[in-house]
Amino acid sequence: MKFLCNGMLGKLCKYMRMCGIDTMYSNEGKKAYILARKEGRIFITRNTQLKNLEGVFFVETEDLKLQLKTIIENFDLTNKLTLFSRCIRCNEPLKEVLKEEIRRLIPYYTYKNFNEFVRCPKCLRIYWKGSHYERMSQEIKKLID
Ligand SMILES: [Zn+2]
Repeated sequence: MKFLCNGMLGKLCKYMRMCGIDTMYSNEGKKAYILARKEGRIFITRNTQLKNLEGVFFVETEDLKLQLKTIIENFDLTNKLTLFSRCIRCNEPLKEVLKEEIRRLIPYYTYKNFNEFVRCPKCLRIYWKGSHYERMSQEIKKLID
């Protein structure tokens, strides 16, 4: 299941990517809608003018956590979430990488204390299961329960 977050939903888009959900972002209106339809993506928006079009999911709340919860429940995604499997910046699936390969690219502390690393093939950003990961997964777990 694929999505496109529209307009004011940039943060929601990031959270969805964190959950491993394939989500594009665009702040254009109708044009973005057409793109979403072309790619078979569900169009998530707060734009009332686009509310009643086919394939549109209209988000009522401004509350980010509630937005994410609504999406997960509505599209039955609870068991399909794979946290930190997708780049938060570019939506690209992350690839495992050996820590020796990226030794020079990460802080020494991180190199010493963590063993699992993943990298975005597109923007080359490196992710590891540090304190940020722990905090995020706690937050997301709380939402889903
Ligand atoms: Zn990336």
